[in-house]
Amino acid sequence: MYEGPRQVNVERVPDALIERPTDVLVRITTTNICGSDLHMYEGRTDFETGRVLGHENLGEVVEVGSAVDHVRVGDVVCIPFNISCGFCANCEKGLTAYCLTTNPEPGMAGAAYGFAAMGPYDGGQAELLRVPYGDVNCLVLPDDAKEKQNDYVMLADIWPTGWHATRLAQVEAGDSVVIYGAGPVGLMAAYSAVLRSASKVMVVDRHPDRLAKAEEIGAIAIDDSRMPPVDQVMELTKGLGADRGCECVGYQAHDPQGHEHPNMTLNDLVRSVKFTGTIGVVGVFVPSDPGSPNDLYKQGEIAFDYGMFWFKGQTMANGQCNVKGYNRALMTLIHEGKARPSWVVSHELDLDDAPRGYEHFDRRDLGWTKVVLHPGK
Ligand code: NAD
Ligand code: ZN
Repeated sequence: MYEGPRQVNVERVPDALIERPTDVLVRITTTNICGSDLHMYEGRTDFETGRVLGHENLGEVVEVGSAVDHVRVGDVVCIPFNISCGFCANCEKGLTAYCLTTNPEPGMAGAAYGFAAMGPYDGGQAELLRVPYGDVNCLVLPDDAKEKQNDYVMLADIWPTGWHATRLAQVEAGDSVVIYGAGPVGLMAAYSAVLRSASKVMVVDRHPDRLAKAEEIGAIAIDDSRMPPVDQVMELTKGLGADRGCECVGYQAHDPQGHEHPNMTLNDLVRSVKFTGTIGVVGVFVPSDPGSPNDLYKQGEIAFDYGMFWFKGQTMANGQCNVKGYNRALMTLIHEGKARPSWVVSHELDLDDAPRGYEHFDRRDLGWTKVVLHPGK
């Protein structure tokens, strides 16, 4: 439960319940801490205290509403972070991250579990989770679900999101790809680029443990604390720049409060991707909200060299991942033994230990790459 900036506690809360006939109730067995949780955790959003976090969830169905046809009690399901209805104009087109009905805020699109500005839904870092429109929002997993739960849980968000980054960047076989960020999302983008037959995958960060993970899958690690990353990419691409680029960091990269990375990923991408190259941005950038006490650094107003971007004739695409568009295909790769996204996991903790997981993951302490929580472990 979120209690305020850098404060989460494990508290006893009322059990989640079936509230509508289309709901499914899931007993959570696996739930991840995500870099996106840190937007709330670090107090950059107006997320209310007393709310439960957690949008990367997997568990066993324990109850279904009277209007649920497909999902059954006993099914093990992975739950995409996007809560979508399946019947609005955006869902019909597969743009389930931009569902027009599940976010009750006027003018908003898209909803998620345990997330600021994404509707009132509780998260799954808990024992029970209510899943609205259960037939739409549960991916029923195959019979190896329990033994591969740390793989399948990555289908809730970070693997489809990493895959989405490479799709937005139009990665094709033989391409060279530069990825900014070796957090879990960047690592999954690198993994996706490798699976999509990129010829060279370069991953930029400065945390040696995260860069080492990238090397584990055959990517080239670029330590930006050693030398400007653009220079390193240029050296590796004979001065041409990478064919494709992925942004997997987000606005917190240049957070003057954290000042971990004062350089700007968008500019670095434009500079390290070739003329006419393509860039996919999945790192989160949030709109400015001048009235908000949290808008300390005009979050949405990014000083980005549009002129250089234009001059190089590049294309950029961005946004949240429409998880449902990818997760069934990626599930099949796991089931058939062609992919094992759990290689990104560094720690498996009991739910009671979640505050410790947040603390280390937030500080990016050495070795804390991806934390998986197992309620009732
Ligand atoms: P993370 O914070 O663990 O990882 C970010 C990494 O970027 C860190 O390792 C950090 O050292 C590195 N970094 C910071 N500044 C950098 C810079 N200037 N250049 C290169 N690397 C830099 O988070 P994560 O879980 O990997 O998530 C990354 C981003 O993706 C977050 O913004 C998250 O909210 C977002 N995200 C988006 C979606 C989506 O649907 N689009 C889904 C999930 C997560
Ligand atoms: Zn996430």
